[in-house]
Amino acid sequence: MKADVIIIGGGPSGLMAAIAASSHGANVILLDKGDKLGRKLGISGGGRCNVTNAKETDELIRNIPGNGKFLHSALSQFGNRDIIRFFEGLGIRLKEEDRGRMFPVSDKAQTVVQALLSQVQKQGVDIRAHHSVQAVLYENGHVDGVKLSDGRKLRASAVVVATGGKSVPHTGSTGDGYIWAKQAGHTITELYPTEVPITSGEALIQTRELQGLSLRSIELTVWNAKGKKLVTHEGDMIFTHFGISGPAALRCSQFVVKELKKSGQPGVLLTIDLFPEQAAPTLLEKLRAKARAEAKKAIKNILKGILPERLIPVLLRKAEVAEDVTYDHISHQTWEQLVKWMKAFPLTANGTLSLKEAFVTGGGVHLKEIDPKTMASKKMPGLYFCGEILDIHGYTGGYNITAAFSTGYVAGKNAAQYSQSLTSLR
Ligand SMILES: Cc1cc2nc3c(=O)[nH]c(=O)nc-3n(C[C@H](O)[C@H](O)[C@H](O)COP(=O)(O)OP(=O)(O)OC[C@H]3O[C@@H](n4cnc5c(N)ncnc54)[C@H](O)[C@@H]3O)c2cc1C
Repeated sequence: MKADVIIIGGGPSGLMAAIAASSHGANVILLDKGDKLGRKLGISGGGRCNVTNAKETDELIRNIPGNGKFLHSALSQFGNRDIIRFFEGLGIRLKEEDRGRMFPVSDKAQTVVQALLSQVQKQGVDIRAHHSVQAVLYENGHVDGVKLSDGRKLRASAVVVATGGKSVPHTGSTGDGYIWAKQAGHTITELYPTEVPITSGEALIQTRELQGLSLRSIELTVWNAKGKKLVTHEGDMIFTHFGISGPAALRCSQFVVKELKKSGQPGVLLTIDLFPEQAAPTLLEKLRAKARAEAKKAIKNILKGILPERLIPVLLRKAEVAEDVTYDHISHQTWEQLVKWMKAFPLTANGTLSLKEAFVTGGGVHLKEIDPKTMASKKMPGLYFCGEILDIHGYTGGYNITAAFSTGYVAGKNAAQYSQSLTSLR
């Protein structure tokens, strides 16, 4: 029997596509090669699933630096408010945390996965786990179905490819869909890691002197080879044994990747503003006043309570200030030097962890070849794409799952309508 719609991939985009297609009257088969569906969703948000973000649409789009504007139409059809309403309709209450991040009240990603799976089942979708797709079948210039890895063929009027990117492949996202897109005539823009920890060869990283040290509410800036500021992100970060991680580092990571490639240089300069709320002259005044009041104390002790203790010797070394020097022996120039490093602590990045270790894959199916209103391929009738396989990537904060749900909904709905339009022609 020929299905109306086959959806390949049971991540957030594929699950939502299955719900949308079946609620628009299609007979749907949902295939996933894994033993369970929604594996990446189940580990998302540190196991809590940052399911969407409460910000206004324009803000959502600003937080999707990888082609967020492409999502205007999709978000107007199924945006964050619809996602919240959808889950509330399934009895899953969401709560808002800092920066608009929305989580299930249960704090368990599995609540979200289970709710989606139950709904897919309830809507009569034929769910088939352990079904690895080897190829999408194209015949006479349109989609005809899929070929499974065991050689069986399943026929369908429309196929939705929701196979995700190439990051964290043990969840099933191994990039299979890119090949089928190419076979249909699509261009795949270069894939690269985004939202990924940054590496550095600097001695302070290699000696692990700062490993495990967290910095709260700092500002991290990425500079290009000509000394121009590329981006600044505010947030927390942590020093690791290979470099830096944490929200601010993840947000900056794609700029490091792109600048390394563009400049051809071995390193990219990052600076950390440890006191973004205070202008340099204010900070200088405060520091000097504190030191003056405790004039006999060594600078390393004055700085305790102002800076994390482990950072003090590193900072003094960078600023070339002796640890034991006291107020009377610190020149104005030295104070300025110290404040300069506190406002722009330098670290040279030499790369990032790999695409496999990234939270999100940058690049993907070229958006010029996709209709933003329907997620239909402009190359192959009956073929639809949704989720991370597209050349879309957002910052961490619920933006990627939002993009997956939104494009999934639009792809599923339109795949259903396309298959029905074929039936009515027959
Ligand atoms: C650790 C981690 C935490 C994250 N946390 C968040 C978060 O809290 N909020 C957020 O917005 N984003 C988060 N992300 C990103 C987000 O999870 C992804 O962007 C999202 O899951 C992409 O959804 P998708 O449906 O496109 O693909 P995926 O979720 O990658 O799903 C693809 C599915 O396709 C299946 N598949 C692949 N190839 C085949 C094949 N040949 N045959 C059959 N099936 C196949 C796979 O088995 C898989 O189930 C996180 C990512 C990671 C790695």
